[in-house]
Amino acid sequence: MKSLLRTNIAEMDGYVPGFQPDDMGSWIKLNTNENSYPPSPKVVEAILAELGTDGARLHTYPAATSQKLREVAGELYGFDPTWIIMANGSDEVLNNLIRACASEGDEIGYVHPSYSYYATLARIQGARVRTFSLTDDFRIADFPDSYEGKIFFLTTPNAPLGPAFPLDYIEELATRCTGLLVLDETYADFAGGTALELVRRHKNVVVTRSLSKSYALAGMRLGLAIGRPEIIAALDKIRDHYNLDRLAQAACVAALRDQDYLRDCCNKIRETREWFATELRARGYHVIPSQGNYLFASPPDRNGVRIYEGLFARKILVRHFSDPILCHGLRISIGTRQEMETTLTAIAEIG
Ligand SMILES: *Cc1c(COP(=O)(O)O)cnc(C)c1O
Repeated sequence: MKSLLRTNIAEMDGYVPGFQPDDMGSWIKLNTNENSYPPSPKVVEAILAELGTDGARLHTYPAATSQKLREVAGELYGFDPTWIIMANGSDEVLNNLIRACASEGDEIGYVHPSYSYYATLARIQGARVRTFSLTDDFRIADFPDSYEGKIFFLTTPNAPLGPAFPLDYIEELATRCTGLLVLDETYADFAGGTALELVRRHKNVVVTRSLSKSYALAGMRLGLAIGRPEIIAALDKIRDHYNLDRLAQAACVAALRDQDYLRDCCNKIRETREWFATELRARGYHVIPSQGNYLFASPPDRNGVRIYEGLFARKILVRHFSDPILCHGLRISIGTRQEMETTLTAIAEIG
């Protein structure tokens, strides 16, 4: 059978997403950076309105270009709609960026640790992967003066660690990349700033955003990318032509228009994050300052597995990475204040 497959597909491992338990309701789920709050009520209204009483609209295809969404997103971010493409989750557009730019054997680069799905997507395409580590002062170690990989992915704020890269540093990276610099800003709504303005200043910069985390819409699969019209037009050619279904499109317009709800939700999460970080530090944990909706924290004995298992036994799911540079700690998503109080009590019990 193996001979029927492309060698890179036969030999690669698939991506392993965070654990999704069947009995979701009985867990406190802090392992995949989902939002513990519901989406805006206006999103639910818009989905129900699109569905109608008899689902009558579902027999026709959705808008192929997601034009309305591009207009709403364009207004929100200050770009012409020709600079924006909508995606079935930002994962789709990360994939299509690789398909658009990297041929078999070409290199793509990213920071380790960050989002390892870039590597899976590159391998599907047959591209080579090069990772760069981080220095103690949170810069990329040994980044070449001229990086010639077809794409460099920079997750900012970084997941799983939490800090965002400073704008002037990202701008310097843009000038050092001969290929695309893709800024994965999945967590930017929780952060103090964004590097979006670099899209205007540098023709090789693309920013990706997701509605999964800050807009609490992981279940709808919505993301987008912002870049030069030439790049967006290329991405438009290779996406599935009906990549966003009708309900997702209705949800997206309503979500992007309800900025008050987004702001309130992100503020609550940020406040809880800072409170939770302080409480963990008071218990001797090392906590990296975070701009996302998660914290990377290590217990005093640097035994991440022990805490992971103690929490698991109490039906609290967090993320532990077996990678040697991460195994001393845990990535803990920030849920509601109540969920984090329960988690803190459990941590105190585990000791
Ligand atoms: C969650 C996540 C994504 C995927 O977002 P979707 O829009 O749900 O596909 C991409 N990048 C990073 C860094 C993420 O954490």
